[in-house]
Amino acid sequence: MTATLMDGQTLSRKLLDETAERAAAFERTQGRRPCLATVLVGDDPASHTYVRMKVNRCAAVGIESRRVDLPASVGTEELVGVLRELSADPAVDGILLQHPVPAHIDERAAFDAIPADKDVDGVTGASFAAMAFGERGFVSATPAGIMRLLDAYDVPLRGRRAVVVGRSAILGKPVGMLLLARDATVTYCHSRTVDLASHVAEADVVVAAAGVPELVRGEWIKPGAVVVDAGYNPGNVGDVEFAGAADRASLITPVPGGVGPMTIAALLSQTVDAAELHG
Ligand code: NAP
Repeated sequence: MTATLMDGQTLSRKLLDETAERAAAFERTQGRRPCLATVLVGDDPASHTYVRMKVNRCAAVGIESRRVDLPASVGTEELVGVLRELSADPAVDGILLQHPVPAHIDERAAFDAIPADKDVDGVTGASFAAMAFGERGFVSATPAGIMRLLDAYDVPLRGRRAVVVGRSAILGKPVGMLLLARDATVTYCHSRTVDLASHVAEADVVVAAAGVPELVRGEWIKPGAVVVDAGYNPGNVGDVEFAGAADRASLITPVPGGVGPMTIAALLSQTVDAAELHG
């Protein structure tokens, strides 16, 4: 392996420490803790694990959490009703709707029921638009975490070719927009892309966000490229074939311990931002 690991675990700890200091300062001045409401629909075990991790991290940094667990049978209207109640509650600073939600729910309608000032996971259309226009607002948590990782390792972006594999509304699309805002030349690849290998081979920076185990083969990576693997598949497998990619890349994120911890840290940092906004 020739690549240096981009250590999201260590970097996230720094961000969590800063967030804990800001949360404590907020509590001192406002007499209450910042509060994150988590909304979980159904009983997908992975989603339960993610919510539990987020709630535990909240406690560790002095953020209060309010957990709302709903049965899988809940409909869009009822879910939107719950999100509206949390939106109207002045004690709640941020709202996280754990995704994916069950298929019968209109996920976009649910996300968009979260007001911009509480959208600490950066999932609403309004937040996406603000980010795409370079305006103030919360950034989708995983892309925000990825940008922090790239910056911590001084990865140059201006004029560099970035290839994003995946175009979901919460991950692929926003991370591409953030790279574009930093003057990278961005290509989006997706399930209909012809000859994915040739696109990846051109990239100075590869962001893999497809949810397909080891989709990006090590031999596709340009020597010296930076590889960010946002994928998280069962068995701790990323979307990049790690061993092969690590032999060619200059920097690479491990799975786990790369993007995942940065995502939670970005979410909690934005929760304190929201609290400071609300006062
Ligand atoms: P998603 O909504 O399922 O989107 C997957 C994207 O990948 C789609 O745009 C899809 O293309 C594309 N894709 C699928 N198969 C492909 C293929 N064979 N070749 C090229 N592109 C392909 O997933 P997501 O929510 O963005 O998540 C992606 C991955 O990131 C998952 O592994 C997920 O677990 C992980 N994730 C990690 C974190 C974290 O904190 N670390 C957070 C969120 C997600 P089409 O648009 O054409 O269908």
